[in-house]
Amino acid sequence: MVLSSVAGGGKSTLIQMIRAKHPDLAFSVSCTTRAPRPGDKEGVTYFFLSKEKFESGIDKGEFLEWAKVHDNYYGTPVIFVNQCMSAGKSVIMDLDVQGAAQVKQKLGKEAITIFILPPNEEEWEKRLRGRGTDSEESILKRIKNGKEELAHKDEFDHIIVNDTLEHALSRLEEILF
Ligand code: ADP
Ligand code: 5GP
Repeated sequence: MVLSSVAGGGKSTLIQMIRAKHPDLAFSVSCTTRAPRPGDKEGVTYFFLSKEKFESGIDKGEFLEWAKVHDNYYGTPVIFVNQCMSAGKSVIMDLDVQGAAQVKQKLGKEAITIFILPPNEEEWEKRLRGRGTDSEESILKRIKNGKEELAHKDEFDHIIVNDTLEHALSRLEEILF
């Protein structure tokens, strides 16, 4: 299952909530070249790689998909997703819209793609700033990129409006179970 949204849409929060409730759901830990933020944990939130290591991973075909997002590389290790699929386990991927499109193209019906939509622009910006993890420059870049990402929301199998977390979580459960 692929979850995508604009930055600050609520993916990470919803993923944490659904995994706490359904511990059997696996989470695909991505590789990235971005610097760790407070709260990030190597191997838990991301595998943090140098640009050189990431590019060598691309050459060796180690990623199910990869993309450049906000000037950094992000990619999904193919081996973990394959292991989960062979074991019949559902796996959640937190991807940008480019990654979601690549996974849909590769896995077809095996992949359910969901776009998490903030209820409105004002609330979206408020949540993005309220998270307190990004500089103003990075927030402005994320808003600009987010507006481009919003244009792709209709390519997803489902759209969930994240008005309240309770509502968004129950929609997510309806889709998955
Ligand atoms: P993403 O992973 O998509 O970038 P986050 O899960 O980090 O987004 O959410 C961004 C911020 O918005 C976080 O501070 C989170 O606590 C808050 N948030 C998410 N969903 C809601 C909601 N439905 N109501 C209020 N705040 C929310
Ligand atoms: P952040 O830096 O805020 O953790 O993530 C930035 C963006 O990168 C988010 O939209 C997130 O969904 C996306 N992302 C995280 N991991 C991957 C990945 O493996 N592949 C792709 N394509 N996007 C990812």
